[in-house]
Amino acid sequence: MTSHKITLIEGDGIGPEVVGATRQIIEATGVKIDWEVCQAGAEVFKKGLSTGVPQETIDSILRNKVALKGPLETPVGFGEKSANVTLRKMFETYGNIRPIQEIPGVATPYSGRGIDFVIVRENLEDLYAGIEHMQTPGTAQCLKLISRKGCEKIVRLAFEFARAEGRKKVQCATKANIMKLTEGLMKHTFEDVAKEYPDIEAYHIIVDNCAHQMVKIPEQFDVIVTTNMNGDILSDLGSALIGGLGFAPGANIGDTYSIFEAVHGSAPKYAGKNNINPTAVLLSGVMMLRHLKEFEAANQIEQALFRTFAIDKVLTRDAIGDKGAASTTQLTDTILRNMGKPYPDYKKREYKSLKLPHVPNVPDFVKAIERSVLGIDVFIESILPADDLGLNLERIAVDTSFTLKGISCRGVKVYPDSGLKLDPTDLFRCRFISHDKSDVEDAKIYDLLERITPHHRWTHLEKLNVFDGIQAFSKDHGED
Ligand code: NAP
Repeated sequence: MTSHKITLIEGDGIGPEVVGATRQIIEATGVKIDWEVCQAGAEVFKKGLSTGVPQETIDSILRNKVALKGPLETPVGFGEKSANVTLRKMFETYGNIRPIQEIPGVATPYSGRGIDFVIVRENLEDLYAGIEHMQTPGTAQCLKLISRKGCEKIVRLAFEFARAEGRKKVQCATKANIMKLTEGLMKHTFEDVAKEYPDIEAYHIIVDNCAHQMVKIPEQFDVIVTTNMNGDILSDLGSALIGGLGFAPGANIGDTYSIFEAVHGSAPKYAGKNNINPTAVLLSGVMMLRHLKEFEAANQIEQALFRTFAIDKVLTRDAIGDKGAASTTQLTDTILRNMGKPYPDYKKREYKSLKLPHVPNVPDFVKAIERSVLGIDVFIESILPADDLGLNLERIAVDTSFTLKGISCRGVKVYPDSGLKLDPTDLFRCRFISHDKSDVEDAKIYDLLERITPHHRWTHLEKLNVFDGIQAFSKDHGED
């Protein structure tokens, strides 16, 4: 029998209890695992390491390629970035897979409806790149960066995951109706890639309706692929449908490395109280076993767990309240006693190994044959009325290569006056278009900025790119 080397991070708060229980149960399957126990999280931050992840832990994951991880806390005052996010980014685990499956014996308002779907969330891009700037003392900005390569990887992973689990439908949840370029890139990529998977039904759904449908008819979903922030919110909503965070497992999957962890955090108020639910981490361990192709061991754990809940009625406080609740160790012991016993209603899924998509690892994944710059958007901090700012910028632009096309505030046209009564802020987007609508050289942009600078405080600028004849920028509300 092969022995698997796995990096084990116990984590903070309730981590050691839930990971300890999971380790015992996995070992009871007889699968040979050589655990390399490593540190990360609160204690590491306290020692002054700002990432919260020591080099020994990084080296261990680099060697073993698979990790099972308890929740990590980001203690306030010790480093700004979450060690969880650092690990996901460091090992390029671009896919966050979060199954939402009804668990036998766990009563919820949806019990008996057969909820069984998976959220495949992009894990590295979007607003969670965490690139933020205060543009003015009163206006903050967070960059939402979405790449075609990132979309292609996650969409292909979703279709491959559907095939590995014998699922029939993939839905892509985006807000492409509003964010046509960023969320739209995910939608278009999904529509392109879907053609290569004719055996799987593919639909787009607007993300807010997806949330509504998840609550109304959750059993309609099979696989949902989505951008990072959408996926974060939808998956927490999903966990509530099946009993709460104590039951929601997850996996971070990349081309080379995989990190398995529950959706929940370190729940510090329950640390050491022996009353939390280890199921989410245990089911993350089940996902890890399937990743290691230990399909029988994974099925064995699921059956023992379902027996424990549905036949023995042993459940923790989060599932049934304080009265009659089992402790973490009582639940673990019952699962251990049930190992090897079948669960009568077990729906055995024919799992196949996940075929990881091979998306070329090149930085210029998409190349434009023709490209030009039509003008620039200059973002200006100002307390002037929009008309005064507009007239002033028109005067400044007189001898330059540009015409002021218009000004907007929070995406709505404020100059030329649209007649709307808007509540302005102190940041304006001022759109300058090149007179001859030809490709603008940088020298002309510098010239315009030099003329603006003595009169106004500009905060940043964006080039108005045209790629292969298509305008690659959004219009304001009210802009023609
Ligand atoms: P949390 O730790 O997930 O806990 C929120 C609530 O969920 C708990 O108070 C509890 O609800 C319930 N819960 C979570 N896990 C449970 C379990 N295994 N059994 C039973 N109930 C469970 O979220 P948080 O309090 O917002 O975050 C605490 C720390 O965890 C923070 O430092 C955060 O940064 C970190 N965090 C880490 C990860 C990760 O490692 N991936 C993820 C999220 C958060 P009741 O209060 O209703 O009983």
